[in-house]
Amino acid sequence: MGNQPLIVLSEESQRTSGKDAQSMNITAGTAVAESVRTTLGPKGMDKMLVDSSGSVVVTNDGVTILDEMDIEHPAANMVVEVAQTQEDEVGDGTTTAVVIAGELLSEAENLLDQDIHATILAQGYRQAAEEAKEIVEDIAIEVDEDDTDVLESVARTAMTGKGAESAKDHLAELVVRAVQSVADEESVDTDNVQIETVVGSSIDESTLVEGVIVGKDRVHENMPKFKQDADIALIDTAIEVPETELDTEVNVSDPDQLQEFLDQEEEQLRELVDNIVASGADVVFCQKGIDDMAQHYLAEEGILAVRRAKKSDISALARSTGARIISNIEDISEDDLGFAGSVTEKELAGDEKIFVEDVDDARAVSLILQGGTDHVVDEVERAIEDSLGVVAATLEDGKVVPGAGAPETELSLQLRDFADSVGGREQLAIEAFADAIDVIPRTLAENAGLDPIDSLVELRSEHDSDNTSYGLNADTGSVDDMSDVAVEPLRVKTQAIESATEAAVMLLRIDDVIAAGDLKGGQGDDDDDEPAGGPGAGGMGGMGGMGGMGGMGGAM
Ligand code: ADP
Ligand code: MG
Repeated sequence: MGNQPLIVLSEESQRTSGKDAQSMNITAGTAVAESVRTTLGPKGMDKMLVDSSGSVVVTNDGVTILDEMDIEHPAANMVVEVAQTQEDEVGDGTTTAVVIAGELLSEAENLLDQDIHATILAQGYRQAAEEAKEIVEDIAIEVDEDDTDVLESVARTAMTGKGAESAKDHLAELVVRAVQSVADEESVDTDNVQIETVVGSSIDESTLVEGVIVGKDRVHENMPKFKQDADIALIDTAIEVPETELDTEVNVSDPDQLQEFLDQEEEQLRELVDNIVASGADVVFCQKGIDDMAQHYLAEEGILAVRRAKKSDISALARSTGARIISNIEDISEDDLGFAGSVTEKELAGDEKIFVEDVDDARAVSLILQGGTDHVVDEVERAIEDSLGVVAATLEDGKVVPGAGAPETELSLQLRDFADSVGGREQLAIEAFADAIDVIPRTLAENAGLDPIDSLVELRSEHDSDNTSYGLNADTGSVDDMSDVAVEPLRVKTQAIESATEAAVMLLRIDDVIAAGDLKGGQGDDDDDEPAGGPGAGGMGGMGGMGGMGGMGGAM
């Protein structure tokens, strides 16, 4: 009887409790942060990731690295989620968020060793995070939606050090134009910026199509390839006779009857097409199928039609051309049609696609990214996605901060003052938080091959004299006003602080890990991560060759 309550877990289960559980989680969490730390900033290295099938990704993007690494440890995964949240909420700052989370954990370890209870730590961290958000908001600068210069600077900053770097001026211009085009009153949905990639040409030749590229060719070869000043119909049902399927179940006894059915069907198709023609449509995008006979009739009328267009393309067309999506072809009228100055079938990356351009108000646009090889184009695409995200966030919130370690230096200084005002044991936690935030300027310096201590001292002395926009310019190696050099949306910083703190606090509050199966790796998990990441300087050295490769790709 006495033993009974103990046998609640199956034999394969593993349980780690108390300090062991805490230190296991901290080790796993910091290992994740270590694995991306060398990629931070414009001088950060790239990583080459090879999956089990041998396919290769060369990237500098935090969230991509962590996704590709296939991390299994549950605590490590909670840190990976920090990057994913950051990616979803802002689209940039994923490495920053993870590196801060890792540093919060390793600072916590020291305090846990000094017998500060995890609950106190959690409280202190939360308080510090709240205060931190207010501090960065105070130093933020307001931006207007027409302030193209600042927006382009934000776009460029997100691309620095990535594959897109070599053409960042040109790309930043495209990104800002794209985001300004798709912006609605309150929000900006970057899904309305469609990205097409073309391998073979140079990045500088990337272009913005202020309209939609539909990834299909025209359905019938007798249809025109080009329509000028086109009235456009969008249809989300099939252009077929709906009764067809029912009719097949009717028993046909003599040939005349069959002919009658067929004639009737043709008649109905003719009527459907006549409806479309009567509306005045020159171009038809259909989300479903188009019957062969209907294709023929449409071609005869000189209409350019596309079938099985993607739902997302249809909604982009609706946004861009002002067309209303029609579900009942019988009701189609002139009012439902949208307009585009030109609709053309053109080849893009070896496939025929339909370009819908010259619209009045392109609220959905397409970016055509060019690059020398698959790997280059993929990395450019990731940089562009980050860049679109930050420009969108800037337009939505209207606030930016100078980057390059400037906000983090300010934060850590002001948080230390705040800690003094709080006192008690939480003070220690808040100070630990302030120390943790320093990891960003320190890492930026390390990755740029500068002395981190000298850089931090210089940064602090500028910030002590209220030069809040002074950061570490990685290109020149000196501490300067970064307002025109590196600009980031406020949200990159607030979101990174928030998600990093949440993850760290959640991990710290765990004092018992019960795993139903084998908890792979456990304490040794960081060893598993070594080949991919490699801690600190060793990792940097090891990654040197790969970073070189990424750099070469960018320069092509
Ligand atoms: P993340 O995934 O966090 O965005 P990045 O590798 O893009 O990581 O690095 C972002 C950091 O690099 C930010 O802190 C940003 O302010 C900084 N940064 C950008 N441009 C410069 C620059 N010219 N000099 C120094 N730091 C810079
Ligand atoms: Mg970035």
